[in-house]
Amino acid sequence: MYDTNNVFARIIRGEIPAAKVYEDDSVLAFKDNTPSAPIHIIVVPKAGYTSFEHFTRTASAEEIGHFFKTVGTIAKQLGAEENGFRLVTNNGPDAGQTVMHFHVHILAGEPLGGVLGRRT
Ligand code: 5GP
Repeated sequence: MYDTNNVFARIIRGEIPAAKVYEDDSVLAFKDNTPSAPIHIIVVPKAGYTSFEHFTRTASAEEIGHFFKTVGTIAKQLGAEENGFRLVTNNGPDAGQTVMHFHVHILAGEPLGGVLGRRT
């Protein structure tokens, strides 16, 4: 069940501030407020999807295509293309998803190391 009071929904509605780097009718991107890399951007669809699974199962092909094409446009706009960047989406509890509004992290700006955290 999508909670309309999650923090990203409140950023989309303008109820709490965020450092926006891109916005169109259906997509918003802003700086993560606890960055894990020199460049750490959160990209969200404005519509209410809880997770990657929810988004890809229920959004239209056009909406999904526009979203991921826009992630690429934003990465280019950030100047992250040449040295590289990483895309992360955490889906559900085992992945550590903490905000239940689907989002993609764009991480860049330094060598990012191995792709996965070590299991304990
Ligand atoms: P997740 O763990 O769900 O994949 O990622 C959630 C991300 O949202 C975290 O990296 C966290 O730092 C970021 N975040 C949480 N609350 C806020 C907020 O109020 N503003 C911004 N800009 N980022 C937030």
